[in-house]
Amino acid sequence: MLDRLAPGVVRIPTTGRDNAFLVDGDDGFTLVDVGWADAAVPILGALAELGRKPSDIKRVVLTHAHPDHVQGVARLRDATGARILVHHAEQTWLEGGRVPASGRSGVLGRALDKLPKLHWQPLTADATLTDGDLVPGSGGLRALHTPGHSPGHLVFLHEPSGTALVGDAVFNRSGLALGPAALAADPQLRAGSLARIPGDVRAVGFAHGAPLNGDGVQAFHAFIAQLV
Ligand SMILES: [Zn+2]
Ligand SMILES: [Zn+2]
Repeated sequence: MLDRLAPGVVRIPTTGRDNAFLVDGDDGFTLVDVGWADAAVPILGALAELGRKPSDIKRVVLTHAHPDHVQGVARLRDATGARILVHHAEQTWLEGGRVPASGRSGVLGRALDKLPKLHWQPLTADATLTDGDLVPGSGGLRALHTPGHSPGHLVFLHEPSGTALVGDAVFNRSGLALGPAALAADPQLRAGSLARIPGDVRAVGFAHGAPLNGDGVQAFHAFIAQLV
């Protein structure tokens, strides 16, 4: 099932509540996040629905290296040949195959990360991203460093359509929320990071929960305004 969130941006539900996003660019698609281990299946299905082939995904940009975003990367990379890009602060996480203890502020988060089901096949990024980078070939995706949930968390702004793909900086599962503090690396940084998202974005895609566009985006801006 495909959902055109904005011109050039397609949402791909990878489970009933998790999303990846396909962005049309200069040389093919850029995929924002992947998902759990089986996420390649719905993503490749979406490509087929669009009449495109796996190798049309040229790169995967990761909002951050948590298992629910990166576990499916190895399989998707093998199927597509896509390059993998992540913020430099989480390059070693990808290579380590799990979130390190320093990556969670709470005991609960650190305990969960010991579970093998939350580990992934170690990956080497093909390139790293830093704040302000325009992802080459992506057709206008700008990386915005938004630490807090994780140290190298990135929000991707699709500048041509005014769309913010916010990863786990905000959740929209049952209303807008920052998510559990124990699972965040530095919960205190989250609100300030969100204030960096431009106030004129016209659509918002969440890794978890339904996207917002049209009048619905006002709720997103109001949520950020009351945090800071
Ligand atoms: Zn996360
Ligand atoms: Zn997540």
